Amino acid sequence: MIPFVNLVEQRKKYCDEFQKAEQTVLNSGCFIGGPQVNALENELAKYLGIQASNVITCASGTDAITIALMALELKPGDEVIVPDFTFIAPAECVALLGGVPKFADIDAQTLQISPESVQKLITKRTKGIIAVDLFGQCAPFYALKDLAKTNKLWLIEDAAQAFGAKQGKNFACTLGDISITSFYPTKPLGCYGDGGAIFTKNIELATRARQIANHGSKMRYCHDCIGINSRLDALQAAILCVKLLHLNEELIIRQKNATLYNNFFYNNCNDIIPQKIASNNISTYAQYTVLAKNRETFINKLEQANIPYCIHYPTPLHTQKCFEKYANLQNLEQIKNTIWATLHAISLPVCAFTHVHKIIDLLQ
Ligand SMILES: *Cc1c(COP(=O)(O)O)cnc(C)c1O
Repeated sequence: MIPFVNLVEQRKKYCDEFQKAEQTVLNSGCFIGGPQVNALENELAKYLGIQASNVITCASGTDAITIALMALELKPGDEVIVPDFTFIAPAECVALLGGVPKFADIDAQTLQISPESVQKLITKRTKGIIAVDLFGQCAPFYALKDLAKTNKLWLIEDAAQAFGAKQGKNFACTLGDISITSFYPTKPLGCYGDGGAIFTKNIELATRARQIANHGSKMRYCHDCIGINSRLDALQAAILCVKLLHLNEELIIRQKNATLYNNFFYNNCNDIIPQKIASNNISTYAQYTVLAKNRETFINKLEQANIPYCIHYPTPLHTQKCFEKYANLQNLEQIKNTIWATLHAISLPVCAFTHVHKIIDLLQ
């Protein structure tokens, strides 16, 4: 069976570099924080063209969102607008802190949060927006920044799937007041466990986020605010430093893979429509996702050919049981693109170690 994400082949290719980096950490006796974590923060900052003090690594992408919301001082009852069509984390973190997630619809073609839908959800209690760079493409930040500015809202960029993506000249992870990413193993830049990072050019927010991630402490045993324990392991940082060196070559292969699929579907299947990438955007293709008019038929074909697939995402978030108390029925009409996407979206293997021409041969 073809793997959906081929981490085994990736490990083989960079094996010598990984082993050297891993041995250095294991022999050092320093496993949390330390030189590897500092080196990673430096390298991430260099990649994005920002200061190392603007980068705070932490224990996961989900923690990164929670820390960002804590740094922005989200209060119980505050409303935050999140996409209805994405992974649960943004809405979950808002609710965990007592905030109220409001679910916005997406654009039917790019599948990104829709600024028009966001606008309709803004009330007196709205404090901010969490925009997700879905499947590795940046959300429509030109419009979102305008909306945020006009309505005095903060904007968090959830770039969990998009480290390395670009919108115009700007990198993903630099587009929000605070941006976050995830190093979950199957993300385009992933480690060998959980990991995440927070990015902000606002030095006050950066200082607060760093403090919150470390038990509210700037100085050992001196706690100025309530924080959490969310630190990155040295081993994960060492692995990420190796993978970051290869990220650009891998992103180019992902983009070539996506182009192969696009050409095939455009020329051969008018009932399968690839996610549109808006002009001026470079996606990481964390997922290669299409909308299949008849998803069941397409799934049968994939299963017969032994091609793996995933459904991102099978239900609108607002219908999850955990969000029952926020369900807002008058919204149903306003989230029709989300409902369509949950019924028709399907993702195919696209990582830098996927042989897409072989998959296309199987589909022919
Ligand atoms: C993966 C993901 C997260 C969570 O990241 P973890 O590191 O798994 O906690 C958050 N948001 C989005 C959009 C994701 O895809």
